[in-house]
Amino acid sequence: MGVTQFICPNKDKMNIEQCLSLCPHHIRCMGKPTLEAIAKSVKDRGLGRKYSVTELIGGSRELYLKKMTDYAINPFDQIFAMHGSAVHSICESNSSSAVLTETRLSNALYTGQIDAYGDLLGNGKMVLLDYKVTSSYKAYLAMGYYKVDEPTGEVYKSGVKKGMPKMRKVLKADGVRKILPWAIQVNAYRMLLEEHNFRVDEMYIQLYVRDYSLRISAERNINKPIYLLKVNKISNEYLKRYFGMKKAIMDSAMDSGVIPGLCRKSETWNGRKCENYCPVFEACKKASEEHQTVRETLAGAA
Ligand code: SF4
Ligand code: SF4
Repeated sequence: MGVTQFICPNKDKMNIEQCLSLCPHHIRCMGKPTLEAIAKSVKDRGLGRKYSVTELIGGSRELYLKKMTDYAINPFDQIFAMHGSAVHSICESNSSSAVLTETRLSNALYTGQIDAYGDLLGNGKMVLLDYKVTSSYKAYLAMGYYKVDEPTGEVYKSGVKKGMPKMRKVLKADGVRKILPWAIQVNAYRMLLEEHNFRVDEMYIQLYVRDYSLRISAERNINKPIYLLKVNKISNEYLKRYFGMKKAIMDSAMDSGVIPGLCRKSETWNGRKCENYCPVFEACKKASEEHQTVRETLAGAA
């Protein structure tokens, strides 16, 4: 169970082993080492009932279907995730021995991989750093930026808007930082480190912005490849409740074989993720249709 197929550019689904041994198309869609690296990166780590922090933060239904069904992924969609891994490897190979990198720890609720920990910013503080490769749009939201319409002081002199004030978009930087899932993730790693007797003074996310050099990024006030975002502490009580509930949902589903309910709105980006980006969309849709049929049958028998 797990990722067993690649989706080719012409939408054919190809068994990963078959793809790697012999592509049936006249030329591969990308170099074999890249395909091998993608195949390795999506392989289930076989941790059994131990779930990673990133797995538990996502939708339980999605995670259950990823564990219990075979599914296909488009290798092109994995490239930016691979960029993330590449960034991790570069940072790992260049780090000093006083720094903890790429270390996997676990507790009773979850496992988590620490990107970097130590006196990383030269401020004498023990810092936990998490790397994220992201878009300028997500970076814009994470920085708390937003835009408002403000009058320019001029008015339209003709046309349907004649006499109305001209407006311009003005960027503000005092909005709510949209980083909650990231903050929960980094705090979960903090709790892991502390449970293993490592003191954490400060937490940061190091954002690598893929498209920072584009004009649209400049309009979002994002013009550097790297941003450091300080993360505030979330209480351990909240983290234990949150991850305890997510783990209990998964354990119960795995024990009973009953698929969890649809993912929450926030886990599906308000529904945008399902059809276009969720790799188990087909299995999810099939399960919903079967559920509906059972409900109709039961209603008919009543
Ligand atoms: S190399 Fe690309 S096109 Fe060829 S089978 Fe693999 S995924 Fe499909
Ligand atoms: S299709 Fe949507 S609801 Fe279904 S598993 Fe995927 S994200 Fe969750």
